[in-house]
Amino acid sequence: MSVKICSRCMAVFDGHKWFYDEGEHARLVRTRRAEATLCPGHERIEKRRIDGVVTLKGTFLKEHYDEAVNLINNIADRQLHRNVAARVYNMRQNGDGITVETTDKSLAERIGREFERAFNGDLVIQWLQDADFVRVNWQRG
Ligand SMILES: [Zn+2]
Repeated sequence: MSVKICSRCMAVFDGHKWFYDEGEHARLVRTRRAEATLCPGHERIEKRRIDGVVTLKGTFLKEHYDEAVNLINNIADRQLHRNVAARVYNMRQNGDGITVETTDKSLAERIGREFERAFNGDLVIQWLQDADFVRVNWQRG
């Protein structure tokens, strides 16, 4: 199996698995020894494959918006180092909350659970039947 690198991020494929490694990525770019392609996360983004939607809302969120966005970014960054396929597809602010679409179910679930842990509130996780999809709702008034 050949060595590959993602053309959009610092992910590296060593012939067995994908992982995140900026140093190794830079070295492979420099030595031109790897084939440039898309990592599993960017491939999912390219195909618009969304496996999870997280809806966060409530007045608490309005008052702690930046903190909430930072938490989402931290969770996403940590999860990406565990699983290259887990990415935030889209994050947007709407009326009274934030909607996050993810390429991976476990990332959506983790965002919900970490919001509950950090800020309490009410968490509902729905695994849609027969679908590889999770809907996560968190709310705090
Ligand atoms: Zn990538």
